[in-house]
Amino acid sequence: MSSELDELYRDVILDHFRSPRGARPLPRPTIVEEGYNPLCGDEVILELEVEEGRLKDVAVRSRGCSISVASGSFLAQELRGKPLSEIVRIAAHFKSMLQGTEEPDEALLGDLAALQGARKFPVRIKCALLPWTTLEQALRRLGNS
Ligand code: ZN
Repeated sequence: MSSELDELYRDVILDHFRSPRGARPLPRPTIVEEGYNPLCGDEVILELEVEEGRLKDVAVRSRGCSISVASGSFLAQELRGKPLSEIVRIAAHFKSMLQGTEEPDEALLGDLAALQGARKFPVRIKCALLPWTTLEQALRRLGNS
Protein backbone atom coordinates (compact mmCIF):
# COMPACT_ATOMS: atom_id res chain seq x y z
CA MET A 1 0.00 0.00 0.00
CA SER A 2 1.35 3.45 -0.89
CA SER A 3 2.02 5.90 1.92
CA GLU A 4 -0.53 8.27 0.38
CA LEU A 5 -3.18 5.61 0.72
CA ASP A 6 -2.03 4.96 4.28
CA GLU A 7 -2.54 8.61 5.03
CA LEU A 8 -5.98 8.68 3.46
CA TYR A 9 -7.00 5.70 5.56
CA ARG A 10 -5.71 7.36 8.71
CA ASP A 11 -7.79 10.44 7.95
CA VAL A 12 -10.93 8.38 7.38
CA ILE A 13 -10.38 6.50 10.64
CA LEU A 14 -9.79 9.70 12.61
CA ASP A 15 -12.90 11.25 11.10
CA HIS A 16 -15.04 8.30 12.21
CA PHE A 17 -13.39 8.32 15.64
CA ARG A 18 -14.13 12.01 16.18
CA SER A 19 -17.70 11.87 14.90
CA PRO A 20 -18.94 8.28 15.05
CA ARG A 21 -21.96 7.54 12.83
CA GLY A 22 -25.04 6.02 14.38
CA ALA A 23 -23.93 6.63 17.96
CA ARG A 24 -27.38 7.30 19.39
CA PRO A 25 -29.70 4.76 21.01
CA LEU A 26 -32.55 3.37 18.91
CA PRO A 27 -36.13 3.94 20.06
CA ARG A 28 -37.19 0.35 19.27
CA PRO A 29 -34.22 -2.03 18.99
CA THR A 30 -35.01 -5.64 18.12
CA ILE A 31 -31.89 -6.75 19.94
CA VAL A 32 -29.20 -5.15 22.11
CA GLU A 33 -25.79 -6.75 22.50
CA GLU A 34 -22.75 -5.63 24.49
CA GLY A 35 -19.14 -6.40 23.74
CA TYR A 36 -15.88 -5.91 25.60
CA ASN A 37 -12.25 -6.25 24.56
CA PRO A 38 -10.23 -6.84 27.75
CA LEU A 39 -6.90 -6.45 25.93
CA CYS A 40 -7.53 -2.78 25.26
CA GLY A 41 -10.53 -1.92 27.44
CA ASP A 42 -12.81 -1.18 24.47
CA GLU A 43 -16.55 -1.37 25.09
CA VAL A 44 -19.41 -1.40 22.63
CA ILE A 45 -23.19 -1.40 22.84
CA LEU A 46 -24.78 -2.49 19.60
CA GLU A 47 -28.48 -2.11 18.85
CA LEU A 48 -30.18 -3.61 15.82
CA GLU A 49 -33.65 -2.95 14.49
CA VAL A 50 -34.53 -5.79 12.15
CA GLU A 51 -37.56 -5.86 9.90
CA GLU A 52 -38.37 -8.53 7.32
CA GLY A 53 -34.83 -9.86 7.09
CA ARG A 54 -33.31 -6.43 6.71
CA LEU A 55 -31.34 -4.24 9.10
CA LYS A 56 -33.70 -1.30 9.26
CA ASP A 57 -31.53 0.66 11.66
CA VAL A 58 -28.41 0.19 13.73
CA ALA A 59 -26.79 2.06 16.59
CA VAL A 60 -23.27 1.57 17.85
CA ARG A 61 -22.13 3.27 21.01
CA SER A 62 -18.43 2.76 21.70
CA ARG A 63 -15.94 3.65 24.35
CA GLY A 64 -12.34 2.86 23.61
CA CYS A 65 -9.45 3.42 21.25
CA SER A 66 -9.72 5.09 17.85
CA ILE A 67 -9.68 1.79 15.95
CA SER A 68 -12.56 0.23 17.89
CA VAL A 69 -14.67 3.40 17.76
CA ALA A 70 -14.00 3.90 14.03
CA SER A 71 -14.77 0.26 13.30
CA GLY A 72 -18.14 0.56 15.05
CA SER A 73 -18.88 3.75 13.16
CA PHE A 74 -18.04 2.06 9.84
CA LEU A 75 -20.29 -0.81 10.80
CA ALA A 76 -23.23 1.54 11.40
CA GLN A 77 -22.59 3.45 8.19
CA GLU A 78 -22.08 0.47 5.90
CA LEU A 79 -24.71 -1.96 7.19
CA ARG A 80 -27.79 0.19 7.71
CA GLY A 81 -30.55 -0.86 5.33
CA LYS A 82 -28.83 -4.03 4.11
CA PRO A 83 -30.36 -7.52 4.12
CA LEU A 84 -29.10 -9.72 6.96
CA SER A 85 -27.85 -12.31 4.46
CA GLU A 86 -25.49 -9.74 2.96
CA ILE A 87 -24.45 -8.50 6.41
CA VAL A 88 -23.39 -12.01 7.38
CA ARG A 89 -21.20 -12.12 4.23
CA ILE A 90 -19.66 -8.71 4.88
CA ALA A 91 -18.91 -9.55 8.52
CA ALA A 92 -17.27 -12.85 7.55
CA HIS A 93 -15.17 -11.21 4.85
CA PHE A 94 -14.15 -8.32 7.13
CA LYS A 95 -12.95 -10.82 9.73
CA SER A 96 -10.98 -12.90 7.19
CA MET A 97 -9.48 -9.73 5.73
CA LEU A 98 -8.25 -8.60 9.16
CA GLN A 99 -6.95 -12.04 10.02
CA GLY A 100 -5.06 -12.01 6.73
CA THR A 101 -6.73 -15.07 5.18
CA GLU A 102 -8.44 -13.02 2.43
CA GLU A 103 -7.43 -9.98 0.44
CA PRO A 104 -9.81 -7.03 0.93
CA ASP A 105 -12.71 -6.93 -1.52
CA GLU A 106 -13.26 -3.18 -1.64
CA ALA A 107 -16.53 -3.47 -3.57
CA LEU A 108 -17.98 -5.50 -0.70
CA LEU A 109 -16.33 -3.54 2.11
CA GLY A 110 -16.81 0.09 1.06
CA ASP A 111 -15.21 2.39 3.63
CA LEU A 112 -14.47 -0.62 5.81
CA ALA A 113 -11.47 -1.27 3.61
CA ALA A 114 -9.86 1.65 5.47
CA LEU A 115 -9.39 -0.66 8.44
CA GLN A 116 -7.17 -3.04 6.51
CA GLY A 117 -4.20 -1.11 7.96
CA ALA A 118 -5.02 -2.69 11.33
CA ARG A 119 -3.77 -5.99 9.90
CA LYS A 120 -0.23 -4.76 10.40
CA PHE A 121 -0.81 -4.41 14.12
CA PRO A 122 -1.95 -7.71 15.62
CA VAL A 123 -2.88 -6.08 18.93
CA ARG A 124 -5.26 -3.76 17.03
CA ILE A 125 -7.09 -6.56 15.24
CA LYS A 126 -9.20 -7.34 18.30
CA CYS A 127 -10.08 -3.65 18.57
CA ALA A 128 -11.25 -3.53 14.95
CA LEU A 129 -13.16 -6.79 15.34
CA LEU A 130 -14.99 -5.95 18.58
CA PRO A 131 -18.11 -4.36 17.02
CA TRP A 132 -18.21 -7.22 14.48
CA THR A 133 -17.92 -10.08 16.94
CA THR A 134 -20.63 -8.30 18.94
CA LEU A 135 -22.73 -8.14 15.76
CA GLU A 136 -22.21 -11.86 15.17
CA GLN A 137 -23.34 -12.62 18.73
CA ALA A 138 -26.47 -10.52 18.15
CA LEU A 139 -27.21 -12.27 14.83
CA ARG A 140 -26.74 -15.67 16.45
CA ARG A 141 -29.23 -14.74 19.13
CA LEU A 142 -31.62 -13.63 16.41
CA GLY A 143 -31.16 -17.01 14.76
CA ASN A 144 -29.94 -15.60 11.47
CA SER A 145 -26.45 -16.94 11.12
ZN1 ZN B 1 -8.72 -0.87 21.28
